[in-house]
Amino acid sequence: MAMMAQMSRLLVPTLREAPADAELASHRLLVRAGFIRRVDQTSGFYSLLPLGQRVKARIEAVIRQELDGIGGQECQLPIVQPASLWERSGRWAVYGQEMWRLADRHEHRYCLGPTHEEVITALVGGEVRSWRQLPQLLYQIQNKYRDEQRPRFGLLRSREFVMKDGYSFHTDEADFDRCYAEVYRAYERIFRRIGLDCRPVQADSGAIGGSLSHEFMALADAGEAEVVLCNACGYAADVERAEAGLRQPPPVRAMQRVATPGARSVEEVSSALGVVPAAVAKSLFFRATYADGRQEVVAALLPGDRTLNEVQLRNACGALELVPASPGEVEVPLGSAGPVGLRGVRLVTDREVASGGGWVVGANEEGVHLVGVCPGRDFDPGAVAALATARTGDACPECGAALRARRGIEVGQVFGLGTKYSAALGATYLDAAGQEIPMVMGCYGIGVTRTLAAVVEQHHDGDGIRWPAAVAPYGCALVTVGVGEQGAQAVEAAQAVGRRLADAGVDTLWDDRDERPGVKFKDADLIGLPVRVTFGRALERGLVEVKARTASEPQLLPLDAAPAAVAAVLQA
Ligand SMILES: [Zn+2]
Repeated sequence: MAMMAQMSRLLVPTLREAPADAELASHRLLVRAGFIRRVDQTSGFYSLLPLGQRVKARIEAVIRQELDGIGGQECQLPIVQPASLWERSGRWAVYGQEMWRLADRHEHRYCLGPTHEEVITALVGGEVRSWRQLPQLLYQIQNKYRDEQRPRFGLLRSREFVMKDGYSFHTDEADFDRCYAEVYRAYERIFRRIGLDCRPVQADSGAIGGSLSHEFMALADAGEAEVVLCNACGYAADVERAEAGLRQPPPVRAMQRVATPGARSVEEVSSALGVVPAAVAKSLFFRATYADGRQEVVAALLPGDRTLNEVQLRNACGALELVPASPGEVEVPLGSAGPVGLRGVRLVTDREVASGGGWVVGANEEGVHLVGVCPGRDFDPGAVAALATARTGDACPECGAALRARRGIEVGQVFGLGTKYSAALGATYLDAAGQEIPMVMGCYGIGVTRTLAAVVEQHHDGDGIRWPAAVAPYGCALVTVGVGEQGAQAVEAAQAVGRRLADAGVDTLWDDRDERPGVKFKDADLIGLPVRVTFGRALERGLVEVKARTASEPQLLPLDAAPAAVAAVLQA
């Protein structure tokens, strides 16, 4: 049932000034327009005010409709989870400091759920016995907790946030693949309906295992994630996953020692030797920590003009964590370190360096470098991985055209979990032959509050938010101006239009406050409902102003024509 809300009765505290800690448009505008408020002075926790809650509810409604449409079942799992479950999956020890841990009065340990694989796997494992009960696709929409080291950007990186997390259970990989494709297409529909320009990109599945993984990225300059896109073939990947195209390595020649006094950085070495930075292979040292607690020093060898892709390095050596090594941990001088004769260090070499050629590297001796160093001939490259971060201009790995790097906000992710959790937590089923088999699982997330902020990043201008009709808190703003008899006539006309719009299923927000017209128009633009109808002086001629939030000029229309004009804007 559509309704007409009166602004004078709502809690919509708009502000003229942006909060000091707001760096991004979404953060600034959601606070200024009265959608969210930070809790006290604590960073990373926000209250959703009535307008924010209405947008969130509309986003959730789209998600529910699309997931229910492919057989998803909504459930609700507890936020507080026992440590024992996480110990069985092995994640209690390795999840790290982002997990909120707590104890009850009996000293039993718990966490506030950052995610729910353990809980749902134990639940389904306990209830489902037979292949006849599979597949199952379950989801919930709920608050999640991550103790971010640096919460910021308002709803984009907060410590409490709302997520839709979904999990599927299958007899085999083929059935999982079918479900994955269905969820993937449902996600495309969800983000399209919400009004987000969103790209599914191949993602790193990292330590979770499983083969399939896509992130849904809302393209936005403010995004923290980087993706590379190929306009020629449609290839799209998270920069952590993307492989830079290989270039021709520097020509092969005999290895030689050369003095490079005072030259330590790639730039200094390449200019001292008269070569391009791409002909220098730099060595970067890290202290790696493994799941069993073991540590060692790892060296990454990659072209000097390249930025290290740390995720690929971590995957290549299987480490949980990499921290830059301090000079004391490495026996060689860091400014002249190189792979030739390097001892006590695990070496990982970039594909391009490993592909051959004669490279400039440090000689492991202060002020000395080696030129013409050839992998295989002069040193053992160790593990080979795509260590260079892909960037604009690199060759697309699929078609060879030039890639373009863009920034994005990760609003959703779909990935395969294989049997990692079902095996650890005993989620098995009996097949037709009576054999006990671990279920194959998939996992599907959408950041709901993050999506809300991403919509604002993509839909705003200098005056405020421009909500897409599908998620706007109300469809239409009714603004009455004027005093005395003129004011009374405006109120009467606004109520009549509001009723007609309500009958047509459009929620309206009537600015009935005792404020100057300028204040009302500024607030209407700031709050950003898709269309505004103004009831003022033109009513003497039986006319009202109808203005789409994205239009530069209003239309002057007869009062009777206003509801149809509003509907036309909302359906555009
Ligand atoms: Zn391509």
